[in-house]
Amino acid sequence: MAESIEEMDWQEQAACRDHENVIFFGPEQGESELERQPREAHAKSICQRCPVAEPCLEFAMESNQKYGIWGGLNEKERASLKRRRARARRAS
Ligand code: SF4
Repeated sequence: MAESIEEMDWQEQAACRDHENVIFFGPEQGESELERQPREAHAKSICQRCPVAEPCLEFAMESNQKYGIWGGLNEKERASLKRRRARARRAS
């Protein structure tokens, strides 16, 4: 329960609260690469000034969010971070 309360705390401070979800998750279908890149750049610029980017990213990593920009990273970047962390754990 404590975790869900913490989760609510950070979400209340989220800079994306005042923006449409589609900026962070894209349209349900039909987005080209040319459209995706500026959309993601826009979402990441919002994340850059978000006071809760760190807990947001950790939430996405822990809950294996498959889609969208969380904590300034898209799904491929989170997967890459996950691999780097796993390698670092194995090396230590
Ligand atoms: S880091 Fe980005 S996605 Fe996460 S809460 Fe902040 S603005 Fe929203």
